[in-house]
Amino acid sequence: MPQLVNYQVHDNIVILSLNAPPVNGLGYALRMAIRDGFQQATEDKTVKAIILSSALKLFCAGADIREFGSDKAFADPSLPDLLNLMEESSKPIIAAINGMALGGGCELALACDYRMAIPQAKMGLPEVHLGLLPGAGGTQRLPRLAGVPLALEMIVSGKPASADKLHQAGVIDEIYTRDGDFLKAVIEYTKQLLDSNAPVRSCADLDVDTSELPESFFADFRQSIARRTRGFYAPERCIQAVEAACELPLAEGLEKESELFMTCANTSQARAQQHLFFAGSAASKIPGIDPKTQARKIGRVAIIGSGTMGGGIAMNFVNVGIPVTLLDLDEAALERGIGVINNNYQISAKKGRLSPAQVEERMALLDTTTDYADLADADMVIEAVFENMDIKKKVFRALDEVCKPGAILASNTSTLDVDEIAESISRPGDVIGLHFFSPANVMRLLEIVRGAKTADDVLVTTIKMAKVIKKVSVVAGVAWGFIGNRVLEPYGREASRLILEGATPAQVDRVLYDFGMAMGLPSMIDMAGIDIGCLTRQGMPDAFYGRDPGYAAICDKLYELGRFGQKTARGFYIYEGRNKKEDPEVLELATGLAKELGISQRDVPDQEILERTIYMLINEGAQVLDDGIAYRSSDIDLVYCNGYGFPAHRGGPMQYADEIGPDVVLSALNKYRTELGAYGEEWFKPAPLLEKLVAEGKRFKDHVVSA
Ligand code: NAD
Repeated sequence: MPQLVNYQVHDNIVILSLNAPPVNGLGYALRMAIRDGFQQATEDKTVKAIILSSALKLFCAGADIREFGSDKAFADPSLPDLLNLMEESSKPIIAAINGMALGGGCELALACDYRMAIPQAKMGLPEVHLGLLPGAGGTQRLPRLAGVPLALEMIVSGKPASADKLHQAGVIDEIYTRDGDFLKAVIEYTKQLLDSNAPVRSCADLDVDTSELPESFFADFRQSIARRTRGFYAPERCIQAVEAACELPLAEGLEKESELFMTCANTSQARAQQHLFFAGSAASKIPGIDPKTQARKIGRVAIIGSGTMGGGIAMNFVNVGIPVTLLDLDEAALERGIGVINNNYQISAKKGRLSPAQVEERMALLDTTTDYADLADADMVIEAVFENMDIKKKVFRALDEVCKPGAILASNTSTLDVDEIAESISRPGDVIGLHFFSPANVMRLLEIVRGAKTADDVLVTTIKMAKVIKKVSVVAGVAWGFIGNRVLEPYGREASRLILEGATPAQVDRVLYDFGMAMGLPSMIDMAGIDIGCLTRQGMPDAFYGRDPGYAAICDKLYELGRFGQKTARGFYIYEGRNKKEDPEVLELATGLAKELGISQRDVPDQEILERTIYMLINEGAQVLDDGIAYRSSDIDLVYCNGYGFPAHRGGPMQYADEIGPDVVLSALNKYRTELGAYGEEWFKPAPLLEKLVAEGKRFKDHVVSA
């Protein structure tokens, strides 16, 4: 096995170079190797200074995620102990930061006496995204070195800061801006430090400077993040740790940090957020596909239809420098489409997110046409025309005629059968579904729909391309609604049924919002458009709509009255500008419908609303898994947390079920099945997979669909 830390001597300077691919994860073995290197360098009297560098392209990405949850994660030497040892060293330690220094890697650099970095380097403490706080001194050392505002922002947002910013704040001592060997420059810098008798520096000798902070600083900060951290446990503990840094000497602050770290580590939220982290990498592993499958090259993309979705999809590609040709029926449609894209970029420029030059660059990558012959060079075409099978087939036939062999032909359909589209042309293996979410330039989720005949390399290419355009992708099978919309159906059905039974839209919204959803179902439907939902239901299989006259009856009624939601200023609510208020007329409509349908109204308890909506989501998720539409429960969780506003601190519906116990979900479903009479019997049948898992004492995590 190669050395995890290379030990080299240059005159009286030792270079400890971390060499633990792929990311210098600070697992047990690497921690031991660093400690051994330090001991050797400390005991050697000829050594005057130690450089800590990396043999990889990044400095260090932090804890070794493979050790998460195992004894090795805290085995001696633990990272906090190792860093304390470094800080007590009598010889100066210089961190040579040649790239990303994240989490424990950032804390490693903070425990050194001096830091030199390349301009592209970044340091960050992303632990909050895993439901944790930095537990190896980050919350105590960073405020001492960077000052409270920057440290707090970095720790609570989890976002890395640039070398330049950290240099200005005094965290990075030197930035190496010239060409040439960075390590040589660090050696030179170290020699200068030795020549000038530069002292060893310990954070223990530094107090956090709070002299310029207003008294209300922490209260104001808490208020400023309240909305975006609603329901999350870790951000508040991060703040408390930084407050401790302001009040306590380093050793006591470190103890407080470790105490707060443990309170986070033992939460369902930490489990949930770590589950989502691992779900992201699991989602790109597709059963039955050789991981060595070569992706096709995507250098040029074409999009058919420059409407709401086509325009948004185009932005994803030009944002990363991939040229796009937009095709639409006529010049007027194209002009409209380009106008919307340009307008979106101008808004970003006004907010300072893009420079005028960047806007120009992106717009220059867009080309328009009404002639299919212009698509002959496209490596991938994404169709985003009206949701109509005949029109889509016509478009695909035209593509079949003009596109070069090997071009990937994708459809952005939300509900139509991708296999039927594929079978209508001569190259079904090149066809795939790419279900973007609206607004496509903003929403991170992409459902990749694998058709029966989709070639393996087409699937591999789209998964890879999704990463390039910064999407979270999940592969789904061909079925109505794929994963997201299909699982949403019973959730939506219960929400509207509960309104007939006597719950108010505001009550349903509140219960779901308090659970952590970005918004409750009535608000979501009002935003998406009640008309869209109704039209979608027309093409829905009988397994859902059509079997029950009460199914989404309140939505159909609102549609009939032209109350389409926010766009018409009336839906479940009345909208006045940005404000919404409850509408007694909707309650009357619900009462009228309930009478017609023989549903008796009552006070519906909040807990019932929560269970009937969320547990139904879980039950349908189980069915989707059983049907092989999703490969693993964590894929459903990714879809829900990235596309449907499910709270990340609960890890998605299936992780939530695993956390509370699938048996709890099953017994609640059975309870409602009995209590709700014929309605319960009709809709509350537990998915066989849920029953099976409970019988076997297993969780959704344990169920993986094979190829
Ligand atoms: P849209 O009406 O905004 O845009 C459709 C565009 O396609 C229009 O510009 C129209 O001129 C053009 N078009 C129609 N027929 C064409 C043809 N034969 N050749 C070339 N161009 C043609 O629709 P949209 O909301 O962007 O939806 C497009 C597709 O995306 C649909 O399949 C829809 O189901 C799907 N989708 C929509 C959403 C959403 O929220 N809007 C979300 C996911 C998927």
